[in-house]
Amino acid sequence: MKFISTRGLSPALGFSDAVATGLAPDGGLYLPESLPRFSADELKRFATLSYAELCFEFISRFATDIPADTLRALVAKSYTTFTHGDIAPVVKLDEKTYVLELFHGPTLAFKDFALQLLGNLYGNQCKVRGQSINVLGATSGDTGSAAIHGLLGKPGTAIFILYPDGRTSPLQERQMACTGAANVHALAISGTFDDAQAALKELFADQEFRTRHRLSAVNSINLARILAQCVYYLWAWLRLPENTRNEIEWVVPTGNFGNVLAGWLLQKMGVPLHSFRVATNQNDILHRLFTTGDYRTSTVTPSLAPSMDIQVSSNFERFLYYSVGRDSAKVREVMETFKKTGAYTFENFDRDTFTASRTTDAEIPGIIRQVYQDYGYIADPHTACGFKSLAKDRPSIILATASPAKFPDTIVSAIGIEPTHPSLEALKARPLAKHKLPAEASAIRAYLDQHAV
Ligand SMILES: *Cc1c(COP(=O)(O)O)cnc(C)c1O
Repeated sequence: MKFISTRGLSPALGFSDAVATGLAPDGGLYLPESLPRFSADELKRFATLSYAELCFEFISRFATDIPADTLRALVAKSYTTFTHGDIAPVVKLDEKTYVLELFHGPTLAFKDFALQLLGNLYGNQCKVRGQSINVLGATSGDTGSAAIHGLLGKPGTAIFILYPDGRTSPLQERQMACTGAANVHALAISGTFDDAQAALKELFADQEFRTRHRLSAVNSINLARILAQCVYYLWAWLRLPENTRNEIEWVVPTGNFGNVLAGWLLQKMGVPLHSFRVATNQNDILHRLFTTGDYRTSTVTPSLAPSMDIQVSSNFERFLYYSVGRDSAKVREVMETFKKTGAYTFENFDRDTFTASRTTDAEIPGIIRQVYQDYGYIADPHTACGFKSLAKDRPSIILATASPAKFPDTIVSAIGIEPTHPSLEALKARPLAKHKLPAEASAIRAYLDQHAV
């Protein structure tokens, strides 16, 4: 299987190369050249597999350049770090309301699903090629810690994570800066997540720098992340009651559009997922897009759901590619206009099976309280955005993207209960090792020149 760039100006690559490259040289994002279709018989067979076996079955359709036994072992190892036997448990709240818990990995947020696997894929690549890899990413919170825990202590790798200083939760910062691992660099940038991402894009655009350090991206544009995330939708669909699963709306707390895009791609592969709701916080670029067809950036306002504090949703480009009939020239035109003017207005925007909702900070604590009253369930502030305006005419499954224990202040203010988790308690005693840098490509470049492996 080959992978092509959404912008159509980069050569197609095999799985391992596309994963190692991250952002395509033409500025586009990689997608499978064609999507496999899963037949009803195959889906039936999948129902009896363990999470890791299911993941192997799915990923092996794409990672055709990795020997099956190697891939099976890498996948199996990736999910041993999860603390729940089901890996991604489906919790029934009532006849019409389900939660898919995606926070039982090492950093207690859904990004572990992809980044534990990506870390092992990188580790394998270092071994196979006999070359080191330097991973560079920007995070608004959970990506950084999940990426760090995917690569922690892996020989031949170093990881550099940029995050907006003071804008991640203290616990998220501790997960990044208290690992004690020598190959981990937590870089606190003076600016927003979008500033950090802009600096990062500039560094990745510099081919010489990129090649010299064998740089790889780990933010949510990486192809392997999207594919790994398809698996829990499939897992959950297989576990929902048969009379419900083809009718249910998938509600996804969204920032960079990576999580929900994975579900949508799985739908395009023949798994009958009905529809998706893109649940944003007050940083609502996607809500505006899906309600008006206007894709327009605005300033980021820090919120109680910080991992969704984004006004440019990188993975939207992948949806766009399909939405404009796989026309790369059109994708380039939209993305260039958006880059130049900060906006693109679609004439007849095809929403496909997406709807959207928007939840402000003023609403989040009230929703957490209501969900606790109605179901005795504690939703973290991101997941709470998904509980806003549940569909009346059909059942819903809300993707719970983080453990409430990561956001104790908001939970306490909402319901007066402090959620805890043993792995977070242990972090509080460890020293913080972060490096402060301005949000400028030159400063980050100099740091990497010094510390890359
Ligand atoms: C990253 C993150 C999101 C947003 O996911 P996207 O793939 O960027 O849409 C939502 N909730 C939590 C807890 C996250 O860490």
